[in-house]
Amino acid sequence: MALESASGKDDKHVPDLLEELASGVPGVLFSYWVSADGTQRRFPYISSRVSDLFDVTPEELGQDGLLLTELVHPDDVEGLRPSTDESARTLQPWQYQARVRLKDGSYQWFEGHSLPKRLADGSTLWFGQFTNIQAHKDLELSLRASEAETDYQLRFHQLLASLSSEFMDSAIGDIDAEINHFLARIGNFFQLDRAYIYQFSDDLTHMTNTHEWCRDGVTALKDSQQDVDITGFHWWQQQIRDVLGRNQVVFVEDVSRLPETAVEERALLEEEEVAAMFCAPLQVRGVVEGFFGMDSLTVRHWRGDLDDLLVLVANMLAQAVERFRLEQELLDQSILDPLTGIHNRRYLEPRIEEMLAHYQRTGEGLALAMLDIDHFKQVNDNHGHLAGDRVLRHFAGLLQGQRRGTDVAARYGGEEFVIALADVTPDQACRALQRILELVREQPVCFEGEAVPVSVSAGLVHVTDLPWETLSSDALITEADRRLYKAKGSGRDCLVDASGPIRS
Ligand code: GH3
Ligand code: MG
Ligand code: MG
Repeated sequence: MALESASGKDDKHVPDLLEELASGVPGVLFSYWVSADGTQRRFPYISSRVSDLFDVTPEELGQDGLLLTELVHPDDVEGLRPSTDESARTLQPWQYQARVRLKDGSYQWFEGHSLPKRLADGSTLWFGQFTNIQAHKDLELSLRASEAETDYQLRFHQLLASLSSEFMDSAIGDIDAEINHFLARIGNFFQLDRAYIYQFSDDLTHMTNTHEWCRDGVTALKDSQQDVDITGFHWWQQQIRDVLGRNQVVFVEDVSRLPETAVEERALLEEEEVAAMFCAPLQVRGVVEGFFGMDSLTVRHWRGDLDDLLVLVANMLAQAVERFRLEQELLDQSILDPLTGIHNRRYLEPRIEEMLAHYQRTGEGLALAMLDIDHFKQVNDNHGHLAGDRVLRHFAGLLQGQRRGTDVAARYGGEEFVIALADVTPDQACRALQRILELVREQPVCFEGEAVPVSVSAGLVHVTDLPWETLSSDALITEADRRLYKAKGSGRDCLVDASGPIRS
């Protein structure tokens, strides 16, 4: 049959039946011929549908097969020739996908399939078809995009979940570091250069940068952003009222295109080399306390749903910031010494006043001792500060153990402690203190396998030692301190009361 003639020259008289069959199938049917030396290539037959799709006719392709190659997208053309050569060499089926230029100039994806056959003169002839696979490609692309999107959302929610549990697990006092860590993780996730938190003053006239994360090599601004007066920032003030107040996010995609009303803000941001930024309000119980923001030093196009993601982030941060504030308040008002866990001086003084008032009402005696660890500086010097801390905790525990329910034991300062003994005679107080000194002497502290010997000196005062009218917490402490000083002068590891040094 004509199609099989080696030269393909007789192929103009394609049977009508073939043309009719070809018009009934979805693709473009063809036969493709390549001479034995590979220099000539043409389509002896290609269904007339080809000229409906592409700017080329079956007649032209019958002369020069490369005319179709010229319509293939430059990015897809490279592998085309090797694929036919390979098929010609191995006589394996040929298959190829490429974008081909349509008559309107646009490109669509096509796939070609064909089976090769060697002719007597060594040339190769393929029979096959091209089909339009654009719809498949579109589907594939949108599938890939949606996979990438799902993956993004998943990673974002995983990040939030892990940050949230880290917040919950963080110990008191760690929240500050946790917030910094949070900013770093979020900043990295969104591939930004800076992430920060600002807190507004109550009257919204000033703002202070409280936490900041910067990518390596990006200038930190926190130190210069303390108590910044924002009364001149009219645009920003407006944003705070309008946008932040409604729990919305402020986006600036390109700082250089901020409105005219934001001259001051633009100058500041440009000075900071910020090209794009956004802020989300930090609201605690409905009140905007500050904002969380991130900067990019290059112009950015933000995702359409970034608002929603950022509001989630900001809500979490708002809770952390609130917890941080409450913890600070608690620590400030705290009556406990953080190192030893026993009461501190803040608690002690009003309690002594109460105990004195009780004594003045009931006549039940009261004694107060000031105790100071001997040569404590040497403990630090010889065994390290951590060993020193261990000694402080040990001694505090010992005092606490010796205290009765109505007594008060407190850390007064560095290595100075006070114990106030309720309802005691001078003798009872003296014995109680001697017991404490003994216990300290007998129980050396063990630090990293080494025994650290410890002794204390004490000054003890009983209410009956002082004139009734001068009795006060200050007077008791001053007298106890004076006697402690005497105990140090008497060689340490001893107690001084009204009678003088007592060594057990
Ligand atoms: P003295 O017998 O006269 O009391 O001598 P000292 O060395 O105990 O007294 P000094 O006042 O010279 O030194 C007290 C030291 O206590 C100095 C200070 O560094 C240390 N200190 C204070 N607070 C702490 C603390 O919380 N932990 C540790 N490890 N050391 C502390
Ligand atoms: Mg000391
Ligand atoms: Mg001291």
